[in-house]
Amino acid sequence: MRLKPLSHLICLVLLAPGALAPAQAPPQQAPPAPSRADILRGEYSSWRANNDLLSYDLDIRVDPEKKFISGKNTIRFKMLKDDTRIQLDLFANLNVDKILLGPTELKYTRELGAVFVDFPAPLKKNSIQSIEFHYSGSPRETGRFGGFSFRKDPAGRHWITTACQGVGASVWWPNKDQQQDEVENMRLHVAIPSALTDVSNGRLVGKTDLGDGYTRYDWAISYPINNYCVSLNIGHYEHFSDKLGDLTMDFYCLPENLEKARRQFAQAKPMIEAFQKYFGEYPFKRDGYKLIEVPYSGMEHQSAVTYGNHFANGYLERDWTGVGVSLKFDFIIIHESAHEWFGNSITGSDISDMWIQEGWATYAECVYVEAMFGKEDALKYVNGYKSKVRNRQPIITTRGVNQTPSQDQYFKGALFLNTLRSVIDNDARWRQLLRAYYDRFKYRNILTEDVVAFFNQQTGKNLTPIFDQYLRRAAIPALELRFQESDGSVSYRWKADIKDFAMPVKVGRRADWRLIQPTTEWKTLKTEVKKEDFEVATDLYYVDVIKN
Ligand SMILES: [Zn+2]
Repeated sequence: MRLKPLSHLICLVLLAPGALAPAQAPPQQAPPAPSRADILRGEYSSWRANNDLLSYDLDIRVDPEKKFISGKNTIRFKMLKDDTRIQLDLFANLNVDKILLGPTELKYTRELGAVFVDFPAPLKKNSIQSIEFHYSGSPRETGRFGGFSFRKDPAGRHWITTACQGVGASVWWPNKDQQQDEVENMRLHVAIPSALTDVSNGRLVGKTDLGDGYTRYDWAISYPINNYCVSLNIGHYEHFSDKLGDLTMDFYCLPENLEKARRQFAQAKPMIEAFQKYFGEYPFKRDGYKLIEVPYSGMEHQSAVTYGNHFANGYLERDWTGVGVSLKFDFIIIHESAHEWFGNSITGSDISDMWIQEGWATYAECVYVEAMFGKEDALKYVNGYKSKVRNRQPIITTRGVNQTPSQDQYFKGALFLNTLRSVIDNDARWRQLLRAYYDRFKYRNILTEDVVAFFNQQTGKNLTPIFDQYLRRAAIPALELRFQESDGSVSYRWKADIKDFAMPVKVGRRADWRLIQPTTEWKTLKTEVKKEDFEVATDLYYVDVIKN
C-alpha cells in the first residue's frame, strides 16, 4: 500500500542529530490491547485453519445511483480436518442473504465482521467443498484509500473504486479475510450500468449486455491473489496499450488525461525491465500488467495497479525523500508496481510481518534508482528515508491480532536491507541474493523467520541477531567509540538490545574505509585518524555513533 505522507518537519525535529542520545530509543509507544474485532480479524483461528482456499467466483452488481451492491461469492475450499464450522468475514453493515451448500441453506452466526458458517454434518478431511455466499447492502467508504467509494470524476461522471488494504476486503465482499491463505485463482463478474467500464484484476474474458441497461464484465485471475488486491475500477476510462516482449501492458485513464497518461505511464516499461533484471520475471504475466487511474494515491492491486499521483514525478508532486532524487521518477508507479514482486507474489502471512511487503517494496525503489540513475543516487535516496524513521516501536508487531506495524516498516525496512547489503559487502553477491530470495519465495506467503533462515543459510552466517535488532527492537544499534589519542588507538563496541549483536562496519576515513568486526564486548584498534576526523560509514549501515 501507499503510506500516508508524513510531515518532514516533524520527523526532522524528532530525529535531529544530538536531540536523542544514540541507541537510547525515544519513549516506546505500547500498542493498544487488541479489540475483539482485531482478534476475530487477525487470528488464524481453528475455523480458518481447518480449510485451504481453492478459488473464489465473485459475481456482483453495482448500482451507482443507489450506492448499493448485491451478489454472491462461490467459495471453493479443501477441508484439512473433519469439522462442522468455518469462519468467513463480511462487514456487519452488509446483509447476509443466504449461504448455500448445494441446495441446502446453511446456518450461520455473525459476530462483528466474522461470519461463522455451520454445516449440518461434518465435512470430511481432504474433501473439496463449494458454498455460495449471497449478500447485499451499501458498502462503506472508509480507511485511507476509500474502502468502497462511490465518487464522481472531475467531469461529474461516476467513478467507483475499491481499495481496502488494512480495512479488509470484507468491507465489500465475503471472503476468508486474512493473509495466510490465498485462493489459487479467481473469477470476478461485475455488472454495471452500460455507459461505464470496469477494469479489474486478471484478463477480461467476457463482456455481456444484460439487456436491462447493465453490462457484465467477466475477469479471470489465473494466479493466487490476496483478498485486498481484488479491485473494481469503474468509470469512463480511455485505454491504450503497449507490450514488453510478450507481456501485455494496458493503461486506463480518464479521457481528459490521455496525453498526460501516455507521457507519464511510459515509465512503466523501463521499470518492469529493471525489476525483471534484478528480481526475476514479472510475476503475473498470464494476467498482464495494467495501470489504472483512480481518485486516491495508489495501490498495488495485482495485475491492476492503481494510480493517483497527478501524472507528475515525486510523490504528490513533492520530493518524497527530500534529497533531490525522487523528482526523477513517478513514485507511485514505481512503489506500487514493485509490490507485484514484493507483496503480491511474496506476501507476509500476517500483517505483523508486513515489512516483507513494505520494507522490500521500499527497498525495490532504491534498486530501481540504482538501475536507472546509478549507485550514488540510490545511496542518497535510501538515506533520505532516515528523516522519516521514528524508532519508537519494533517494525514487527504482535502476531495474530490484526496489528498494523508503524510506518518504520517502509523506511527503516529499506534502510535495514541497505545495511544488510553492506554486511554482505559484495555487490555481485548481493544481487545474486536478491534474485535467489525472490526465486525462493515467489507466489508464497511467508514470515520473517523464513527470510532470516534464507539469509543465514545462503551466507553461512548467523545474521539472526542483526535481523532481531532492526526488526524486533525499537532502537538501532550504536557504535560506541572511545579514543585514546595518547597511544593512537580507539576502543569500540556495539550498544544494542540484542545480547550477542555483532555486525561488521566500516570506519576511519571515507577514502579508505577500514572494516572492523565489533561485538557487544570492547575491542581496540590502532589508528592514526584523530577523533574529530574518525568517521563511521553511516550511509552504508543504518547505525548511531557515540564518540567518547
Ligand atoms: Zn506499499
